[in-house]
Amino acid sequence: EEIWKKFGPYSCTLNIDEVDDVDKAWEEIAERIDETIENVKTKIQPVKEMYIILDHTRTILITISDGALPSNVGGGGNVRNILRRVFSIMKKNNWWDKFGMEGFLQIFEQHKLDLEGIYGKFPEYKSFGQIIQVEYDRWQFSDDESVKKLEKIIKQRKGKLTLDDWIVCMQSHGIPADKISEIVKTPIPQNLYYEIALRQERTAKATEVVLYNTIHLPETDNLYYKDHTMLEFDAKITEVFKNVTKKNRPNIIVLDRSAVYPTSGGQQHDTASLTIEGCAGEYKVIDAVKVGKCVLHILDRDLEGYTEMFKGKKVHVSIDLDRRRQLQAHHTGTHIVFASCRDVLGPHIWQAGAKKTTEQAHLDITHYKSLSKQEERDIENKANRIINDCTRINKSLMDKAEAERQYGFHLYQGGVVPGNELRVVNIEGIDTEACCGTHCDSTAEVGWIKLVKSQRISDGIVRLYYVAYERAIDVMNGEM
Ligand SMILES: [Zn+2]
Repeated sequence: EEIWKKFGPYSCTLNIDEVDDVDKAWEEIAERIDETIENVKTKIQPVKEMYIILDHTRTILITISDGALPSNVGGGGNVRNILRRVFSIMKKNNWWDKFGMEGFLQIFEQHKLDLEGIYGKFPEYKSFGQIIQVEYDRWQFSDDESVKKLEKIIKQRKGKLTLDDWIVCMQSHGIPADKISEIVKTPIPQNLYYEIALRQERTAKATEVVLYNTIHLPETDNLYYKDHTMLEFDAKITEVFKNVTKKNRPNIIVLDRSAVYPTSGGQQHDTASLTIEGCAGEYKVIDAVKVGKCVLHILDRDLEGYTEMFKGKKVHVSIDLDRRRQLQAHHTGTHIVFASCRDVLGPHIWQAGAKKTTEQAHLDITHYKSLSKQEERDIENKANRIINDCTRINKSLMDKAEAERQYGFHLYQGGVVPGNELRVVNIEGIDTEACCGTHCDSTAEVGWIKLVKSQRISDGIVRLYYVAYERAIDVMNGEM
């Protein structure tokens, strides 16, 4: 206590943002209060470390409650590094022996009580303790191994790590920066976190190659959103493009209005039959893509003659119902599987990606370990119960602010949507998401969901493959 009284007034001089050399600052304090530097450090250090733990555990509580998970990928890496720093500090001070996991988890409960006054009651989070436990086990197991890897790199580099080495050690071997610093006996490079952020930004942005310029065209009027049961419609051709991937053959048309669903949001496109006024025979729409505000309809054969002549011509389009139904079932099934995962596994489940083709669908979820056979079965059962309940599915355009107020950020499972209006898909009492795909009107139309397999595809991400509707029957028949 004596030393604390003397140290207190000078503690502010240790602000890392203000001093160039922290070690020197420590030295100066020790001199001023007439103590040895070792004595000051050994007395002060545990309290400092206790504050680090209190600060870091609060950060962990908030980030995990907000949907982040410790992993090697993206922001998950920060959660892992912060958590592992806490683990190492606990280990260094022999605090694990004293408190154990149960005591450690109590810290989070204390934070909750403390924060309730500001944010209100924390919602129940059934998987929180599990997430911490799994990460702790992983850290304990990999700690020695990672240190060995780091020591090997240090030897190779003759004691001097490059910035790349630091980043590899942190992101691939999960060693916190201050631990690397301790082992390699050099301070954390000043530009380390900036460089990490920069690299993340670079990988997040992939540039899209635009092959067709649609800027001069009016937006394709989306008939699907006006009436999702519309399978036949009339429209006018507004533009003809030469297919640059097919030797410039003229087989792409843009319409002023269309109910054909273009490939987007991880869902495959519709196909359709199409007739053009004054032209013999039927065309097939074999692909549809969205470019800018327009839907490009790719035809099975070329438009013959002078292409300018087709502009303004009337067309009649009839969408293939069987394909639409199968895609719609896989898409709606994805919402159902997602809701089931959240129900079975816990609120840390967020959608990390999805793909729906006629063959099958998959959903990527944020989860900290592989699924057990039992969990797979539970998810499948839950999904089929939702289907059998014949729950209504409502689709509506909502004001963005109003939708966020009503449903929260859980809306954005497929990523944040630009604009002031959202298309909200609500499976009553089960799941609400901002989503633009094709959906059934009742969960019953999905027919059946058969989980094919699940796979841990990267750290913190599990992929579930499943089939629905008629494809589920195909797969189940094949298994018999
Ligand atoms: Zn959807």
